[in-house]
Amino acid sequence: MKKDIRSFTYEELENEMKTLGLPRFRTGQIYRWLHISLVSSFDEMTDLPKALRAQLDDNFVIFGCTIEMKLVSEYDGTVKYLFALNDGEVIETVLMKYKYGYTVCVSSQVGCRMGCRFCASTLGGVVRSLLPSEILGQVYAVERDNDIRVSHIVMMGMGEPLDNFENVKRFLSLITDEKGQNISMRHISLSTCGIVPKIYELMEMNLQLTLSVSLHAPNDEIRSSMMPVNNAYNIEKLLEACRKYAKTTSRRISFEYALVRGVNDSPECAAELASRLGRMLCHVNLIPVNEVKETHCRESYPETVKKFAEVLLSKGIPVTVRRKLGADINAACGQLRRSRTANKSATGEQN
Ligand code: SAH
Repeated sequence: MKKDIRSFTYEELENEMKTLGLPRFRTGQIYRWLHISLVSSFDEMTDLPKALRAQLDDNFVIFGCTIEMKLVSEYDGTVKYLFALNDGEVIETVLMKYKYGYTVCVSSQVGCRMGCRFCASTLGGVVRSLLPSEILGQVYAVERDNDIRVSHIVMMGMGEPLDNFENVKRFLSLITDEKGQNISMRHISLSTCGIVPKIYELMEMNLQLTLSVSLHAPNDEIRSSMMPVNNAYNIEKLLEACRKYAKTTSRRISFEYALVRGVNDSPECAAELASRLGRMLCHVNLIPVNEVKETHCRESYPETVKKFAEVLLSKGIPVTVRRKLGADINAACGQLRRSRTANKSATGEQN
């Protein structure tokens, strides 16, 4: 079996080169081709002798992403990609342009097994987790396609990052490596539905990334009706972990709250949320839910969103209402892959 060369850390690659009997300086050369020049084949490593390229090709594989579909928003230039992986599975990745730079939203799994009722990514369950090289590959493919350098990463695409924690950790160390893309940990956000033991594990690592927690409800009754994970780790346990996380890392937690009409968007919900968050170092991000055909969630009315935000603010909780990007291109997670899968079955093709 060929080895996944882009998932190796620099030190591991060095060992691999040693095993093959290659001189040390080759590691630097090859690592640069993989993580700076972003090649997709050994043949593109033009300063290596042909025989060496063939030797690498015999031993390793460069996992990457090829563009299966690309949609550009006419409103705001957001680009949504459907990428095919080496085994033919497809994932979604989004490029967003902000004043301060480019942000890429990456997927961590093909599908998701968390079962959140409002989310399109989870409708078909999880197919598999992504390799570190496949998470990196999304960033690299976007950079290559647009001839840009990305400055910020959000792990808010398909999948639950903390359900693929080992590979996500390796991805984080590779993408922040100064010998590679050298993206600042402070420019990375990781979003979780709330797998409490993994939050503690992340806390122990004391990273400077931003932890986003998909809260979406102020109490167990509502949260369990929206998110099955709440049956395993309830709000009290989750918020206790968040409080400790914020204290230990001195990093503000970002709570995601998707407003669903008539479900979690009343002023009473806002007041309950504010009292539960108390004086935690945090921020609440309100998102009018993206309506997904297969779910029955409807977007809250703008006045309701405004009122909700006002209640939080009046109780001293920092809050923003997230601007909707790419609404015309199915930019909410899982919708594009879902619609492609649906089209294929309509025409009798296999997924
Ligand atoms: N599994 C992780 C990250 C992926 S989802 C998590 O749950 O956090 C990224 C964010 O989008 C999460 O906050 C998720 O709850 C939210 N989300 C999913 N479907 C949505 C929808 N239809 N409308 C608005 N937000 C949605």
